[in-house]
Amino acid sequence: MSLTHKSSARPLPGADTTDLPDVADFPASETPDIADAGWRRFLRRFHPRHIAGGALRTGVELLYPPQCVTCEAATATPFSLCVTCWNAMPLISKPYCERLGTPFAVDYGMGMLSPAAIADPPRFDRARAVARHKDTARDLVGRLKYGERLDLATLMAKMMVQAGRDVLEEADLLVPVPMHRFRLWRRRYNQAALLANAVSRQTGVPVNLDALRRIRHTRAQVGLRRPERQQNLQGAFGIAPEHQGLITGRRVVVIDDVRTTGSTLNACAHILRKAGAARIDVLTFTLVADGDI
Ligand SMILES: [Zn+2]
Repeated sequence: MSLTHKSSARPLPGADTTDLPDVADFPASETPDIADAGWRRFLRRFHPRHIAGGALRTGVELLYPPQCVTCEAATATPFSLCVTCWNAMPLISKPYCERLGTPFAVDYGMGMLSPAAIADPPRFDRARAVARHKDTARDLVGRLKYGERLDLATLMAKMMVQAGRDVLEEADLLVPVPMHRFRLWRRRYNQAALLANAVSRQTGVPVNLDALRRIRHTRAQVGLRRPERQQNLQGAFGIAPEHQGLITGRRVVVIDDVRTTGSTLNACAHILRKAGAARIDVLTFTLVADGDI
């Protein structure tokens, strides 16, 4: 696997993937002007391949009309949210703490840190999240994790790519928070790995699912106080010796579905730092803020 960072090769998040040609696709000898390129686009729409593809899509949509991915209300496009669910999406936008990614009530200016980040700095460098862990965002996390809606990973990753644009632009490698083999056997899939794979597909940043390992099965963190959480995670993670070289000197982004107190991500960051990672950022779909749970 190459770790070469090719930012120019990355598609823009959420970009329309239509295969109609762009002006830049024409050979230099033709040097078409914008109007000429427009005509070519127009004519391509009547290519038999497009007509057949369109008819097939229409047939499928008649049989299975697009539905909202959470409430199943009718939507205009497949794999999307309806207006009601979208309005109940507690998106995090700037201003937020540069270090923890937690939203500020007022804008203190660029690069400001929250009191929590100053009083108790995390072991990772920066964290970003799409939304707070409530309403539609919490519903999506639950459906991906427990509802076996593996198809949601692509949509959720698209939003993560937007929210984590600054950390992903500088990333060399993505690693999901690993699941212990026992839990993986019971659950059958690791939702963090699904999200990491989807973010990798959409950005071109390489992903490694095996470098960071859960070497000890831990009890659930829910209900534990902070010192108990840290003790519970003691020695829980490790780096596979054969992947040590992947981590040293790399800028790593750790991917998970939810960030609660940050103890798990701190434990992962600690191990990655020991392995020589140059930078460790965190990207999750939701983060739990005061009053969310
Ligand atoms: Zn809906």
